[in-house]
Parts: sequence; C-alpha cells; structure tokens
Amino acid sequence: MPLGEFDLIERYFRRAPSRRDVLLGVGDDAALLEVKPGRALVAATDTLVEGRHFLHRAPPSSIGHQALAVNLSDLAAMGAEPAWALLSLSLPQADERWLEGFAEGFFALADASGVALVGGDTVRGPLVVTVEVLGFVEPARALKRSGARPGDALYVSGSLGDSAAGLATLLRGGASAASDDPLVRRHLFAQPRLALGQALAGVATAGMDVSDGLLGDLHKLCAASGVAATLELDALPLSEALLTRHSPEECENFALHGGDDYELLFTLPSDSAFPGESGASGLPRLTRIGRITAGGSVRCTRGGTEVAVSGAGYDHFR
Ligand code: ADP
Ligand code: MG
Repeated sequence: MPLGEFDLIERYFRRAPSRRDVLLGVGDDAALLEVKPGRALVAATDTLVEGRHFLHRAPPSSIGHQALAVNLSDLAAMGAEPAWALLSLSLPQADERWLEGFAEGFFALADASGVALVGGDTVRGPLVVTVEVLGFVEPARALKRSGARPGDALYVSGSLGDSAAGLATLLRGGASAASDDPLVRRHLFAQPRLALGQALAGVATAGMDVSDGLLGDLHKLCAASGVAATLELDALPLSEALLTRHSPEECENFALHGGDDYELLFTLPSDSAFPGESGASGLPRLTRIGRITAGGSVRCTRGGTEVAVSGAGYDHFR
C-alpha cells in the first residue's frame, strides 16, 4: 500500500519537539509558540522548485538541507537566532527513499541550528519545497540592509564563487552529485552563517546574505542605504579549491556573479575593531573587500584603477 498523507507526516516529519518554547507542534491545526518578551519575531520564507533551484538528480538530503539553509541564511543576515520552521511540500509521489533522504538532510541542519519543525503542509503536485523560518532578535540590534554610511568598511565572510563553480561542474557532468568535490559539496550543502550574523548584530552598520551574486547583492545593499561602494576586485576571497581549478578570470566571474554562496556581506564603521576579524572564536574568515562612499552606484577597482564590470545578480523574471 502506498504511504498516505498522514502516515507520511507522522513517519517523516512529526518528532518530539526539540525546544521548550514549542507549546504545540505538528499534529493540530496550527502550532502554538511561546515568544520571548523584548525580542522581535523575525520571519522569512523561501521556495525551491525542481529544475530551477535544484537539479532533477540532486540528492534528496541536499534538497532537505538547502530548503532550510537558504531560509536560515536570511535569519543570519538579520542577526537573528533561529527557533522554528514550517515545511510545505508538494510531491509528485510518496517515494519513501526520497522522503528519508530529504528528512535526514533537513533535520541534520535543523538540529545543528537549534530549530524545531513545528508544522507545514503536504500535497501532491510538482516537486516544490517551501520553508518558513521564525527566530528572534533584539529589534535595536537587527542587521538591516539600510544602515551603511560613507566611510564604512565593506566586508564579506568566507569565500565567494565556490557554489556557482560546483553547479557548473555538475551541469557539465564533471562530477556526480555524490562526489566529495569541495565545490560541489559547497553547492549542495551551503552552511548558513548564523553565528557570524548574531555576532554582527548591534555591531555592523548594515548586512545581508549573498544569495544572488556579490555584485547584484552589493547593489541592493547600496540602494537600501542610499550610498555607493568601491569594490576592490583584488581583495575578493577565493578558496584554494576554486583557484586550483579555474583561471583567474573564471574565478572572478564566479565570485562576482555566481549565486548561492550564502556568505554575509556587511559594513563596519571604519574605526571598528570587530574581534572576528582575526579569524578567532569559531567565526569564518572575514575579508575587507572595499568601502562605502557617497553617491548611488558600485565602482570596481583592480590594482587601484577603476574597471568596468558588467552583469547584475540573478533575477527570476529577467
Ligand atoms: P490542516 O488540514 O489543518 O491544514 P494538515 O492535515 O495539512 O492540517 O496537517 C496536519 C498537521 O501536520 C498540521 O499540524 C501540520 O502543520 C502538519 N504538517 C503537514 N505537513 C507537514 C510537513 N511536511 N512537515 C511538518 N508538519 C506538517
Ligand atoms: Mg494543510
């Protein structure tokens, strides 16, 4: 007998609540959640569509991971602490092997991030995964896109371009999705920068996550803040794995325009001595990649000279 909707939810998604602030989780008409006084609720949702956000042959565990990771990255980008998630699944069929892998990827990241799954919806249809995450931040410390000021230093975490290079490898058939190629792994299992986001709350003047390509996302940060930026192309942080496999031009292209890095892009007052800068305390490497200026555009420089760079970030409707 094929698995029914309620058995499916029961078997794969209903678990003993992992947080005490879940007064009522999966099983009733809605979840009942206890909100801490003095903290703002932070909410974000993202949808993944097969063929657009993940490949048809992507491992189910990576789809489960990614559906939650992209949402947690949005909370990281607000400086928030995640708490709860809702999961809406549209599935062509109740394939138990797929569900097992999906749930494994989803819950591994949920458990590592202190997130409880508290509800969702399950329907039959094309493969589409929507996750909503909820978390907390002290409202005055929230990391917004709009606070950058001329003179601020511009930083990015980790390394850029790996995920896009990993996707290119997969599309070329240059590696299987199961391979341990670090660039492919980075594409399939991006790690949201939750600890860094929380460390930047109340410290950075502005911040966002890099999901649609650095250049396009930097434009968005500048537009929200009403400022301009100078981006130093020589400073872009590139991983060893990327550098050994691609030419310098390809690396720069992946770093500027490639999506799905899920690093944090943020600004600090120029005199700030953010402790994470030294790479201490379990935070990722942070790299100063430019500065905020007055005006309304993004200039790129190489060796101190301005260069023209074309192309914007990813847009579903362009
Ligand atoms: P309703 O008809 O009230 O919308 P459903 O029958 O859709 O309720 O869901 C029953 C319960 O299972 C609800 O608590 C809902 O939040 C939960 N649920 C449904 N699908 C999922 C899922 N994929 N993951 C987690 N919880 C789910
Ligand atoms: Mg329902």
